[in-house]
Amino acid sequence: MSSRRDPRTYDMERLRAAVFEERGGEVDDSIPQLAAADDEFCAIALALPDGEVRGSVQARVAFSVQSAVKPFLFALALVDTDGAALDRIGIEPTGEAFDAIKLESGTGRPPNPMVNAGALLTAALVRGDDVEARDERILAGLSAFAGRALDVDEEVARDEHLLGDRNHALAHLMRAEGTLEVSADDAVAVYARACAVLVDAEALAVMGATLALGGRNPVTGEQVIPDRVARDVVSVMATCGVYDGSGRWMRAVGIPAKSSVSGAIVLAAPGRLGAAAVSPPLDDQGTSVRGRAASQRLSDDLGLHVFGSA
Ligand code: GLU
Repeated sequence: MSSRRDPRTYDMERLRAAVFEERGGEVDDSIPQLAAADDEFCAIALALPDGEVRGSVQARVAFSVQSAVKPFLFALALVDTDGAALDRIGIEPTGEAFDAIKLESGTGRPPNPMVNAGALLTAALVRGDDVEARDERILAGLSAFAGRALDVDEEVARDEHLLGDRNHALAHLMRAEGTLEVSADDAVAVYARACAVLVDAEALAVMGATLALGGRNPVTGEQVIPDRVARDVVSVMATCGVYDGSGRWMRAVGIPAKSSVSGAIVLAAPGRLGAAAVSPPLDDQGTSVRGRAASQRLSDDLGLHVFGSA
């Protein structure tokens, strides 16, 4: 008999208290706002198919979404290009860090949409004639995924743009290869603003649930993206979402997910639920230490491993 617990009654505070004990990891210091993050911040949330959202304490504390935005940028690029984005970006895991200065050999394409090169391109493929228009479209799209209006943290956006030297390098490399049509600076500007969108664990869990549930937001009922696009995005999260730790993640946790430098992890358990687990200290692969522990427990306790049979 399955020992699965019911997500509707699952004790979120107990989970949080258990993972809070996890020590270790370093808070990202790529921009001052991230370096100043409280290393004791820890929040977990679940979003269920009936629209119920269950958050631990701190689940309504805002943070910048950072790379947890990448699956959603990929989704919007797929919709806005009618699938042609799939010809412009690879979908193979890299086994390398998120900001590796490397493109697919032979094609000059970014290796996948979950690393920075790919996300710079997906952000550029979103509909819109200029930075402002693409930015507006992204913010509206992310808000539809979250089921509420989201905003950009302007200081984070500015510093991401100013200090993101590796992102500028990647954008220039893609220009040189002919893979990026907009200017390198425009690409970095749009991507930086997307990374600077403020979410909280509850919003991120709803975003994950929208992917997990065939593109339909369980809170608003809106079909945000077609089912097929959601399936494509979740597939790539499963193989590439945790950077060079994706294989280890898939074996142990077994839930398609995307990590980020703000310590957020967004999870999409297909057909089951969306979740977010957030805490700033990161391991060597840029994955939140407590977020990983929370994801592992959720997978075990709720039977969410996609290859599990219990
Ligand atoms: N804004 C970060 C960057 O582009 C995102 C990286 C991440 O969250 O993994 O460097």
